[in-house]
Amino acid sequence: MEKKRLVVLGGGESGVGAAILGKVKGMDVFLSDMGTISPRYSSILDEEGIEWEQGTHSMDRLLAADEVVKSPGIPPTAPAVQAIMERGIPVISEIEFAGRYTDARMVCITGSNGKTTTTLLTYHILRDAGLNVGLAGNVGRSLALQVARDEHDVYVIELSSFQLENMYDFRANIAVILNITPDHMDRYDYTMQKYVDAKFRILQNQKSSDAFIYWADDPVIRKQLERIKVEAEQYPFAEKRTDRTASYLTDGGKELVFDTEGTYYSMPRAELSLSGLHNLYNSMAAGLSACLLDIRKEDIRKALGNFEGVEHRLEFVADIDGVRYINDSKATNVNSCWYALESMPAGQGKSIVLILGGKDKGNDYSEIEPLVREKVKTIVCMGKDNTKLLDFFGGKVDEIIDTHSLAEAVEACRNAASAGDTVLLSPCCASFDLFKSYEQRGDLFKEAVKALQK
Ligand code: ADP
Repeated sequence: MEKKRLVVLGGGESGVGAAILGKVKGMDVFLSDMGTISPRYSSILDEEGIEWEQGTHSMDRLLAADEVVKSPGIPPTAPAVQAIMERGIPVISEIEFAGRYTDARMVCITGSNGKTTTTLLTYHILRDAGLNVGLAGNVGRSLALQVARDEHDVYVIELSSFQLENMYDFRANIAVILNITPDHMDRYDYTMQKYVDAKFRILQNQKSSDAFIYWADDPVIRKQLERIKVEAEQYPFAEKRTDRTASYLTDGGKELVFDTEGTYYSMPRAELSLSGLHNLYNSMAAGLSACLLDIRKEDIRKALGNFEGVEHRLEFVADIDGVRYINDSKATNVNSCWYALESMPAGQGKSIVLILGGKDKGNDYSEIEPLVREKVKTIVCMGKDNTKLLDFFGGKVDEIIDTHSLAEAVEACRNAASAGDTVLLSPCCASFDLFKSYEQRGDLFKEAVKALQK
């Protein structure tokens, strides 16, 4: 029999993992990347004897594929992808591909914000409880590589809408949707419903024995639930209890409850290691997943209490001359900045110097306007082109400063902040105008802040 011809588009973590799994399963694998493949990955491909190319797509080879695995970073509109689809060749994601070769239980987490935090928190609880658990998706190693080389009983997988777009038969045993707010609208023709539909693909193929965990107060999720039929058992969470909520607060907000079919368990909210309302939700989602996997209550409580947080997410950097500096570089959309502002102490007047700006993804800043008016004294714009921010916030804060580099921005913050204030980098925008990535933006911010101490 002829070998199945697998083409992998994209030579990053997921692509290289898929290529290795394809090879292990006896396929004829070819990997192609329009950009440059990092030496770390190209050397793995060479060691594995997998054919690859970079800087070009050899269309004859691509169009001879039986199936194509596409990295989530490559848009479906890319000419090569279009040509492949026109030929009727199936295009799938790495998670879809890997899911075919494992019977492990899948805990899958999506949402506009909080995915990484909740994925890592869930993984932390399960691992500390002694489960043989793998971490995959946008964080950790690719699922395909783990399935090929290092199989686990359970995987916790962070799924973006991009990944979900190319998933068809994959089944999540536990599916989590944290929230849905406008993000990546540029990739969804500025149509919210398309983005919502992509997120809800996480429920496709679920059976009645599976679970669906979601934030009950999210208006977008609620609306979608009126339109569709859900097979899985539902476990909504919210601050306030209703007759269906499986996790909620009691005792005037002091106790966090997990209430799943007969098992009732509560712990003090103050014991959660992550603070802020958004992290309460993330803790609820992670705790519910753990309850459904029969993790002992004491283990859940302990792990929710000792999780160390994730870099670039409301990360405390330093206290300099009484000014607190916080790195929330991962806030690449307006809603995550809303939660950052919300988590800052109220009733202290205007004490925040907020750094905003970068590559705008079609943002509507009116969502944060009330919190900005209440808590922010100065906005420091940091981007190549700050016109939209200056137009929107001009006259709404005491001071708005136009800067075009990180050094300028940090200097402006230092001048604007006085003892008792907080400087918050929570930019609402992608980083690509001035930086390689949000990680680089956060790292450089931390360096610049620490340099102020010297
Ligand atoms: P994602 O992986 O979905 O981008 P992260 O966990 O990396 O999410 O967090 C991204 C940003 O969103 C951070 O700035 C964080 O403070 C904020 N955030 C975290 N959890 C939530 C949530 N449940 N709702 C809204 N914002 C959140």
